[in-house]
Amino acid sequence: MQLYSTRNTSLRFSLEEAVMKGLPADNGLFMPLEVPKMPATFFSNIENHTFPELSFEVAKALIGDSIPIPALEQIVFNAINFPAPIVSLDERTFILELFHGPSLAFKDFGARFMAQLMGYFNRNADKELTILVATSGDTGGAVAAGFLGAPGVRVIILYPSGKVSFLQEQQLTTLGNNITALEIQGSFDDCQALVKEAFLDPELNQLYRFSSANSINIARLIPQSFYYFEAYRQLPNKDIPFVFSVPSGNFGNLTAGLFAKRMGLPVQHFIAATNLNDIVPDYLSSGIYTPKPSVSTLSNAMDVGNPSNFNRILDLYGSTWNNIKSDVIGFAFDDIHTENIMRNIFESKAYILDPHGAVGLLGLNAYKKLHPNTQGIVLETAHPAKFLPDVERILKRSIPVPEKLVALEHLEKKSTLLSPQFIDFKDWLIHDAR
Ligand SMILES: *Cc1c(COP(=O)(O)O)cnc(C)c1O
Repeated sequence: MQLYSTRNTSLRFSLEEAVMKGLPADNGLFMPLEVPKMPATFFSNIENHTFPELSFEVAKALIGDSIPIPALEQIVFNAINFPAPIVSLDERTFILELFHGPSLAFKDFGARFMAQLMGYFNRNADKELTILVATSGDTGGAVAAGFLGAPGVRVIILYPSGKVSFLQEQQLTTLGNNITALEIQGSFDDCQALVKEAFLDPELNQLYRFSSANSINIARLIPQSFYYFEAYRQLPNKDIPFVFSVPSGNFGNLTAGLFAKRMGLPVQHFIAATNLNDIVPDYLSSGIYTPKPSVSTLSNAMDVGNPSNFNRILDLYGSTWNNIKSDVIGFAFDDIHTENIMRNIFESKAYILDPHGAVGLLGLNAYKKLHPNTQGIVLETAHPAKFLPDVERILKRSIPVPEKLVALEHLEKKSTLLSPQFIDFKDWLIHDAR
């Protein structure tokens, strides 16, 4: 597998360089040079495969000769060790539950695969690897769980103070060991900017061997393409045209879906479903990309004002608005609509959506008004109990909480409060972190 940078398409990088650096030095984004088509037999046999098996087939096609096949098989089977079932709400509406991993969110797939891959590439290194990660909610928990206890790896998580849920914060701040949490007095965009600046700072790069664990790392995107195939495998009627609705923030999940389509998955459209941070739906309708400061919403893991994977989508489609529009349809929704659909689905189907999945279902419903003869799969990106106070307030009842979360509630929070100024973050990295 070879990669290039979106800023300089003539440079070539190995998978190891791309995974370990996270970002190219020119501040672009790594992209695979080739996204190969899966053979027809893969699709005709897909029902005979398990989720880990089909993931391995996709990984082999994408990653190819970058990792010896037995090592790659081990990486895939270690990372993809929990299911991604589809649940039917009605004959044409399916929920792809991506929350059965350790942190109860879809980011477990990317984080676990990346941790496995970095562990593999780091196997002979002598300097500690420092993973810097900005999170708007679930990334940190997934990354922390994915890397916890990994030898030779240190994880530093930056999250916006007061803007993540209690349980998300507990997931970030209670693990200890090789995981450190920084509480930034600013927005997610501030956290993301601090991480980007640290990667580009020469002095810090003398002291640290940095890597990133954001959705910008290509190692996060690769496994996120697997479950689109897994959803397809489970579709009872594959003859009806189908779409995916992807509740989106930084657009890593959706970008991974677009890779799956390039690999031959016969999906008709992707729905970019957002909350009021509607930069991409706006772009899809106007052709003009206007980043904005993020606004706080109920679906807070999608409160992103300048989606970091947008340039990957542009790059995949030769920066042509019309080409993007032919694959991706965008819709944005406010919290009132989100709350209403959560109540409706609970009352009519006894199914509990989390606020992010609810935005996804709103997107699918809006799409179906325009394209009635389709079936849709909504990515349910987190377990509803991760957003317990909101979900219980909205549904006006208590909901079951998985054992993994109950245990978290009583652990002691350990974090360091920092301003959003780079100078403070740098100072902390130089003087306090080590
Ligand atoms: C991160 C996250 C999203 C957004 O995913 P992107 O890949 O950043 O678009 C949606 N829902 C939940 C629960 C998340 O944690």
